[in-house]
Amino acid sequence: MQRSYVIKPELGKEYARVSHGKGIYLYDVSGKRYIDGSSGAVTASIGHGIEEIADVMREQALKVSFAYRSHFSSDAVEELGAKLADWAPGELNWSFFVNSGSEATETAQKIAIQYWQEKGRPTKTRMISRWMSYHGITMGALSMSGHVLRRKRFVPLLADYPVISPPYPYRRPEGMSLEDYAMHCAGELETAILRIGPDQIAAFIAEPVIGASGGAVVPPDGYFQRIREICDRYDVLFIADEVMTGIGRTGAKFGVDHWGVKPDLMTLGKGMSAGYTPMAATMATDELIDTITRGSGLIMAGHTYSANPQSAAVSLAVLRYVEAHNLVEKAAVQGAYLQKKLQELADESPIIGEARGLGLLCGLEFVKDKQTKEPFPLSMGVAARVIAKAFESGLLVYPASGGLDGVAGDAIIISPPLTITTEEIDELMDLLKKAVQQVQEEVR
Ligand code: PLP
Repeated sequence: MQRSYVIKPELGKEYARVSHGKGIYLYDVSGKRYIDGSSGAVTASIGHGIEEIADVMREQALKVSFAYRSHFSSDAVEELGAKLADWAPGELNWSFFVNSGSEATETAQKIAIQYWQEKGRPTKTRMISRWMSYHGITMGALSMSGHVLRRKRFVPLLADYPVISPPYPYRRPEGMSLEDYAMHCAGELETAILRIGPDQIAAFIAEPVIGASGGAVVPPDGYFQRIREICDRYDVLFIADEVMTGIGRTGAKFGVDHWGVKPDLMTLGKGMSAGYTPMAATMATDELIDTITRGSGLIMAGHTYSANPQSAAVSLAVLRYVEAHNLVEKAAVQGAYLQKKLQELADESPIIGEARGLGLLCGLEFVKDKQTKEPFPLSMGVAARVIAKAFESGLLVYPASGGLDGVAGDAIIISPPLTITTEEIDELMDLLKKAVQQVQEEVR
């Protein structure tokens, strides 16, 4: 193994070196093949090595890669903005381009606060979010995130925002119907707004399906409709964080489309450029942008690389690819098949408490006791063991641990590229089953 001079998350660990990728597969420099069963970090959603995307990259680079956004717009940026406005629900007609999901959620936070200032309501500055959520790693984004593991070292630096419980159907109070549970969880938002005072609250932020801190936790029907009503009642903006769920991942263009809910702000990342370039966006409604335009006329956010023509051209090519290959519809169909296979695995495994998911955003939660739902001690790292075994046999899956310490910290995400075929899902499942079986022998 060659010595590495790169700072990596786990220092001292030896990392395989990636060589190349094709379709759902990645290869390391030794020639070993891996199924990219999680699209990396739920990102490479159209698969690897697509020539037409590479062609667009080259063409745009030869035209112009970078022009500063205060000097120029570009065809690529304008066409990307128009396409997103066409795809997005409601009046979300404006896009502010950034480079990562964290920047997108932090920009949404800033636009929400600025909107209320421009409306003459400057006390509305606080955000409400949920435990078991992840909105990004930078301080503003982390302030809104209920990911215990990622927060805890930095708590003194984080904004003191109120948090409410997310709907977590698998662990809902015994005997409570899903309908009642949806109202119960949404009701927590109303309670929090009333306790703190609507004049303090700028926005509520939520992931349509909980990703990194829960493992594809899908809310019950009715939850987001109720959230929308409560936000409207108290003049609180609703930010849908679609960084993980957006652009077809759940079998609809956006997660909120499953419930017909129209957010005031929406954040995108990951699948928006499918890993071909860093690219993310904060989308806002006409009402928000018109108010700021009539007021100061300047959105107080932005980064050097915001709205660069190179990334915009690549992202536009990715969205066109998604459309041309009907990947949103395919995610729904293949997602149903993958979920069925995961359920079969859960039924036969003594350590899988729940298989869940929406479209091709799927999760498995590991438990010590299926009857009582008692989790394994976090120190046993059961999800991490499954991930390691899967990696050894050539399957990549994504950790979704660290949400609520000790209560629900043991899940993985399975989210292959939306292009995956039925045969490839069978191949993925063979490897996953093997990994789960190996771990269940170790821990039982
Ligand atoms: N929001 C959600 C829902 C995410 O899942 C993530 C990343 O996992 C982020 C925001 C942060 O995105 P990034 O890692 O690109 O900064």
